[in-house]
Amino acid sequence: MPNRFSIRDSVPDFNKEDCEQALFAAKWPHGFRCPRCAHTQYYDVSTRRRPLMECRSCSHQTSLTAGTVLEGSRTPLTKWFQAMFLMQIGISARLLAELIGVTYKTAWLMNHKLRHAIGAWDRERPLDGDLQLLGEYYGYEYHRYLGSPIIQEALKPQPVVIGASLDGAGDIVHLKMKAVDGPEGDGRARRGVTDGEEAVERFVQKHVAGGEATGNVEHLARGRRGRKAPHMAWREAVQWLTWTFGGIGPKHLQAYLNEFCFRRLFRNDMLAELIACCGTTETITYRSLVGARSGVRPIPWAFRRPALSHRRTG
Ligand SMILES: [Zn+2]
Repeated sequence: MPNRFSIRDSVPDFNKEDCEQALFAAKWPHGFRCPRCAHTQYYDVSTRRRPLMECRSCSHQTSLTAGTVLEGSRTPLTKWFQAMFLMQIGISARLLAELIGVTYKTAWLMNHKLRHAIGAWDRERPLDGDLQLLGEYYGYEYHRYLGSPIIQEALKPQPVVIGASLDGAGDIVHLKMKAVDGPEGDGRARRGVTDGEEAVERFVQKHVAGGEATGNVEHLARGRRGRKAPHMAWREAVQWLTWTFGGIGPKHLQAYLNEFCFRRLFRNDMLAELIACCGTTETITYRSLVGARSGVRPIPWAFRRPALSHRRTG
């Protein structure tokens, strides 16, 4: 992991106009289009704080961030771009807050909104072609802080299916990691489930184009994974979750796995792809982020701990 002093020096000071142009191009790749009447000409009626366009035909006013992941945020556009830049490294909310000068809660929310855009990107792009699939567990052995309040959640092993589309040379061209018990899994987690054919079959139905595999499919059973690409990627993902966050509870595990796969796929082109996702994905509120279906069975109220997990897992 790069140390924080070198990261601090590498965060670019984005220019406000450049950020506005980049978001404009991401939101309207084919040029401005009025959301009410689809007219393509506008007057720039931006205020000092808000880029604003007025339709030349129907006078409807629309802000640059409307309909994007940044909508409603009071954080300056330049800081959003710094957060996107830093997602190429994959840092914690605590470090992001320090580096770009926002509160921890704001940084946590920014990171999760970016992950929300990545999740939307992922949903629209199923795997296809030749596939390698394997079942794994994300369990307590990957958590550094066993004394933390997330321990109860963390101790429950999370079954995860990893699937990769491969090119002729065996390199990954598309990658997905899905927590079986998470919001995008099939909700049937139990011990042993990812070792069986059933979880993998359900993964194929849900995440492969057309719901069925058309190329060669290799199901990597335990003991036969060696240095196969999806297995190596999984080990890399687990290392990142442990060293950067000290482990992630089941509630947000899926969002972090999506982020990892996105970064693994785009590597040096990730910033451009992330800006494009953010420009075309509607935002999500703090309330729906922390209240999202967790896949964790409700604990009787008398034993429930205070809702701290979202503070500790970023
Ligand atoms: Zn209009």
